[in-house]
Amino acid sequence: MYGNLLTNVPTDLWIGGQWRKSSDNERFHVIDPATEQKIASVASASVEDAKAAIDAASHAFEGWAARKPRERGEVLRKAFELIMRDQERLAQLITIENGKALTDSRAEIAYSAEFFRWYAEEAVRNIGEVGRAPSSGARIFVHHKPAGVAVLVTPWNFPAAMATRKIGPALAAGCPVVLKPASETPLTMLTLMPILEEAGVPPGVVNVIPSRRSGMIVDAMLHDPRVRVVSFTGSTEVGRKLLHSSADHVLKTAMELGGNAPFLVFEDADIDVAIEGAMVAKMRNMGEACTAANRFYVHESVHDEFAKKLTDKMKALKMGNGLEDGVALGPLVNAEGRDKVASLVNDAVKKGAKVLTGGKAPDGRGYFYPATVLTNVPDSADLLHEEIFGPVASIQTFKTEDEVIKRANATEYGLVAYLYTKDLSRGLRVSEQLDFGMIGLNRGVVSDPAAPFGGMKQSGIGREGAHEGLMEFLETQYISVSW
Ligand code: NAD
Repeated sequence: MYGNLLTNVPTDLWIGGQWRKSSDNERFHVIDPATEQKIASVASASVEDAKAAIDAASHAFEGWAARKPRERGEVLRKAFELIMRDQERLAQLITIENGKALTDSRAEIAYSAEFFRWYAEEAVRNIGEVGRAPSSGARIFVHHKPAGVAVLVTPWNFPAAMATRKIGPALAAGCPVVLKPASETPLTMLTLMPILEEAGVPPGVVNVIPSRRSGMIVDAMLHDPRVRVVSFTGSTEVGRKLLHSSADHVLKTAMELGGNAPFLVFEDADIDVAIEGAMVAKMRNMGEACTAANRFYVHESVHDEFAKKLTDKMKALKMGNGLEDGVALGPLVNAEGRDKVASLVNDAVKKGAKVLTGGKAPDGRGYFYPATVLTNVPDSADLLHEEIFGPVASIQTFKTEDEVIKRANATEYGLVAYLYTKDLSRGLRVSEQLDFGMIGLNRGVVSDPAAPFGGMKQSGIGREGAHEGLMEFLETQYISVSW
């Protein structure tokens, strides 16, 4: 079934431009969520290996930071081209280790590569400023230096994009990195390493250390005085732990954490456009996205039409092994993820929600859960308060603009909100009152390498993409000058 895709997949640690076993020979298995089969045995980095990776990054720092910005940019541009050359192979690998449908994987690779193209262009735009101090008249000379060795920790839901979104700006800024990918999906990033080498990334500038001992090795790296930045994407719970650890050495931190996105459909929305957006906002990655629409609030006058049309679309999705043609809905990443979705749906149904389609995991192999639509969902249902991280759309109604803004904001998360209305002044008025870092106004997808991605409240600190993403890896230095 896998052809020769897995034959040459690297499974060791990539440190200082070389493959290494872990110091104590520990390994762990990677599982195909569609078949529950073991597909690889990967080296599990120890604290000693993590130290070796920081050694390699720290040796590479001076040389990489001293490269001319244009040279760094050209390496990144080349990386973009090589990833697109290998798009199909990389996409298939994502599907095998993560489960998502091949169309989603191809889109992820294209999106991942774009971070290298965008930051190839930003590498030459690290601009400072010069001013005069109002009282003394001295010159205020401001420039930005690479911050130092960066530790990157990424989740399994976008095995390529969550990493390139950090590696691109770090390399553009002049910072070497040590990446710890998620244990569920380490193969994609390991496979990317020879590609980055071919693009001209010098040894030690990018190191990848998968590990089953995440807590231990990340904590050790955050306490290494040579590390100056930690950039994390994952759950709010783990993000909080890393913020605590980062406090000891006062690290520069970027945190892309969980979400609980509301999706508002006003009575004047174009319902077909809203359905199209809902399908992307909910179903991209089978709902396993921090940006996934988690709570649908639909005006009571258009609720029935919206619910029926959404149900029809969800029913039409083909579920199966993501490698097969026509499949739109692959398995969830593991049994734990599938069981969590099932228990959230059961809780909502027990409390009074009505199932319009789906609602029960199929028997047999693979961590599948069907596309599900729930209406009449009561406020007490757990799925309104936590990330569902699965293909479940939960719909409630609302009556007034003020009421729905309050309900949308009633969460500790603040990553993204979506809203649909044909009235642009209402769209902007409501957007400004929503406490979310990103708003999709008549759009079901907001991710773009040229835009600042990130959350408010407990969804995170800092931004990825755009010029802001570059600044996460730079320190501002001000020189007070008399001349
Ligand atoms: P997770 O927090 O469990 O794991 C993320 C990464 O942290 C993995 O590499 C994991 O191995 C590592 N990790 C786990 N425990 C650790 C510890 N104690 N110390 C150091 N590292 C540790 O998240 P996940 O289940 O992989 O991903 C899903 C979560 O990621 C969801 O909450 C989702 O919303 C979030 N996410 C956020 C964004 C964003 O940009 N805001 C994007 C994608 C995913």
